[in-house]
Amino acid sequence: MNFLECTVHCHTDLCDGKNTPAEMAAAAVEKGIRVLGLSGHSHTPHDDSYCMTVENTAAYRAEIARLNREYAGKLTVLCGLEWDQWSDEDPAHWDYVVGSAHYVTGPSGVRHSVDHNMETLQSAFEDFGGDGLAMAEAYYDAVAEVAEKRPTVLGHFDLVKKLNGDGRFFDESHPRYRAAALAALEAAAGKVQALEINTGGVARGYREEFYPAPFLLKRWKELGGRVIITADAHTADGLLFGFEDAADYARAAGFTEAAVLNAAGKVETCAL
Ligand SMILES: [Zn+2]
Ligand SMILES: [Zn+2]
Repeated sequence: MNFLECTVHCHTDLCDGKNTPAEMAAAAVEKGIRVLGLSGHSHTPHDDSYCMTVENTAAYRAEIARLNREYAGKLTVLCGLEWDQWSDEDPAHWDYVVGSAHYVTGPSGVRHSVDHNMETLQSAFEDFGGDGLAMAEAYYDAVAEVAEKRPTVLGHFDLVKKLNGDGRFFDESHPRYRAAALAALEAAAGKVQALEINTGGVARGYREEFYPAPFLLKRWKELGGRVIITADAHTADGLLFGFEDAADYARAAGFTEAAVLNAAGKVETCAL
């Protein structure tokens, strides 16, 4: 398998994606994909804005089983989950898991989404008294906690930068920012099977740079970690968005191989 035949961070209309699982599967076959990993947003009790409901989670499992019967011999659809830190789903019950932090808990005790929209990030920023670096530090503590759960893939490592394109919340070159991000990355080494190079923030026009930033990718290489290219696809036409550019991005950081998931949901490597 090569890195263009496997895409494992994909959302459907059972969470906040646009297309049905069947539409995603049909598009995957058309694009020559052999392993389609669906990773619906895990049910998370305090936030129903983008996650699968309990009912949709059951429908998701049933539909993936049906698609595997329909596409037997042509495509494997893995029943994965984008598992959030605050989800009540058990990560062990899925073919694989993309582990993600989406929230910071402010000094007030309120949990704020860092990526939902500008308002939620602004409320986090205000909760931290306007200290955006403290907000970013709290985010990276959350990422390190997610890594402790040993997810298959660690999701969008530096998501906290998604809405910070103009630097209004924090300076991404500040030593405090870099130290917090590097500490979380070092904490994740040896605990996750792959770190994703996620093209989703670029696909949706938020940033010009993939997750994670080059300084993090280079450090991950030094730490002996593996990378996997993902699109965080919310549409069927975005299943492989930016994969070739992401491969170049990985090569520039010194990677010669990328991880893929095989039809059993296990990590393999392929040449880049
Ligand atoms: Zn996410
Ligand atoms: Zn996602």
